[in-house]
Amino acid sequence: MSSVGPVIFERHLFGPGPSNPYPEATDALSRPLLGHLDPEFLRIMDETCELLRQAWGTTNARTLPISATGSAGMEAAFVNTVHEGDVVVVGVNGLFGQRMCDVAARCGAEVVAVEHEWGTPVDVQRMLDAHPHPTMYAAVHAETSTGVRSDIAALGAAKGDALLVTDAVTSLAGIELRADDWGIDVGYAGTQKCLGVAPGLAPFTINDRAFARRVEKPRSWYLDLGLLGGYVGEASSRGATGGGRTYHHTAPVAMVVSLHAGLTRIVEEGLENVWARHEAVGKQLQDGLQSMGLELFAQEGSRLPELTTVKVPDGVDSAAVRGRLLERHGIEIGAGVGQYAATVWRIGLMGHNARPDAALLVLAALEEAIK
Ligand code: PLP
Repeated sequence: MSSVGPVIFERHLFGPGPSNPYPEATDALSRPLLGHLDPEFLRIMDETCELLRQAWGTTNARTLPISATGSAGMEAAFVNTVHEGDVVVVGVNGLFGQRMCDVAARCGAEVVAVEHEWGTPVDVQRMLDAHPHPTMYAAVHAETSTGVRSDIAALGAAKGDALLVTDAVTSLAGIELRADDWGIDVGYAGTQKCLGVAPGLAPFTINDRAFARRVEKPRSWYLDLGLLGGYVGEASSRGATGGGRTYHHTAPVAMVVSLHAGLTRIVEEGLENVWARHEAVGKQLQDGLQSMGLELFAQEGSRLPELTTVKVPDGVDSAAVRGRLLERHGIEIGAGVGQYAATVWRIGLMGHNARPDAALLVLAALEEAIK
């Protein structure tokens, strides 16, 4: 190994994430580091929370980037809201629905898992029929393991008094998502997908209704939203002078500055334009794959544009093709998950990669690699 460390080649990250960050987000990482209580950083943090509100489509005061990856957002959602014995109905149509069940159960929930065939969306009526009085419904908006979009708006409209927790890790800033209009009480995401930022933060939002029902002293200190309020300078914890930012943990300053840059990039393009860009490029990719004679995995009508699942043709070695794409073109695509590990590929065109030239590149490279 040389004294400057290993050489890292540039890759086209066209798998299920991380995706290549927006250049603005990458550039931001090389700026001089600020202290985590520097007034300039606090301003950037405030603006980041405001930009996240726009991305989520919410006015929730408690909207913040949690200092860890998307799974920490999932943990924060359940550990703060699930009381011992609460009934949590979870839509399971892939790996991340399964993970929700595990996390909710560890928080003391009585989990009712509504199992769906992988590749299909969560069925709202089956969720409603699963239990007469659940405390909470939980579902993944964009199931990264299968490439499927579920109708969170319909679930939110039907949820009654129950809370609704939504995983938006692969949907935030990629496809239409309107937290307040859709009745999402708690939502979490990740930075490394459609937000076009490196992995490391979990954008999180919780409304007053869910916060009022929270666990007073959750079993996680780090993810305790009551304590995190002071960290982001929530209005309620500012005190009479309005300035009461308190130390909770050292903010990952560089990542927050990078997220701020990525979000600014998105808001400047216009959130709806960004959604339309993902939609158009996803269609371009999916049409192209089908013209090559390949078959898509996710159910028609529920396909995510930002994450496409495609069946590996009979007789083709899935791993060998992925290896050739990486060696010859520096292109990463993902394998399938679980029982579909060898029979499905996952191709993500998210954030900065949601571009027509990226779709053309992966289509041409895949056609060659399959031969
Ligand atoms: N939920 C979904 C839908 C995901 O796609 C992922 C990651 O791919 C996660 C949760 C977990 O996020 P992370 O890997 O950032 O912890």
